[in-house]
Amino acid sequence: MKKKLVIYPGSFDPLTNGHIDIITRGLEIFDRLVVGIAQNSRKTTMFSVEKRKEMILKAFKNHDRLEVDAFTGLTVDYAVKRGATAILRGLRAVADFEYELQMANINRKLSPNLETLFMMTSEKYFFVSSQNVKEVARYGGNISALVPHCVEQMIREKFKTS
Ligand code: ADP
Repeated sequence: MKKKLVIYPGSFDPLTNGHIDIITRGLEIFDRLVVGIAQNSRKTTMFSVEKRKEMILKAFKNHDRLEVDAFTGLTVDYAVKRGATAILRGLRAVADFEYELQMANINRKLSPNLETLFMMTSEKYFFVSSQNVKEVARYGGNISALVPHCVEQMIREKFKTS
C-alpha cells in the first residue's frame, strides 16, 4: 500500500506546544509527516530556518517518521513535489477560520487532488501562538507551559545576547 505523506506548513517561529500537539496527532494518522518551514522573505523572524529546524528535531528527538524541511514558493507546489496526500493545518479560534477557508479553497483550485485537513487545537493550547510566546518572553514572562524545554532555552539565549 502507498505510504501516506502529509505536509504541515507554517513559520514555526518558534515551535510551540500547540504545534507539537498537531504534529503528534498527525503522526497517528499519516505514515510520514513533513514539517515544511515556509521561507517568506517579507517576514522578519526571530529564529533562522536552521535554528527552527534544529528546535523541531530536538523536540521530537529525531522521530523516524518525521522530517523537517524548508521551502519557498507556494505550499501546494511544494506538497505536489513531495508527493503529499494532504496539507495539514491547525485551527484555533474562529479568527483562524476565515483565512484558512480562503487558503484551502485557493489551494484546491491550484491543485484539485490535494486535500487540506484541519485539526482542532486541543483546548489547553487554543490561546497559544508563536506571536504571544514571543511577546511574553520579551517582557520576561514564564513561557514554560507554552513551548518545549529546548525552545525555552533557545529563546532565553536569544534575549541574553540581544
Ligand atoms: P503561520 O505562519 O501560517 O501563522 P504557524 O507557524 O503559526 O503558521 O502555524 C502553523 C500551523 O499551526 C497553522 O496551521 C496554525 O493554525 C497551526 N497552529 C499554530 N498554533 C496552534 C495551536 N496552538 N493549536 C493548533 N494549531 C496551531
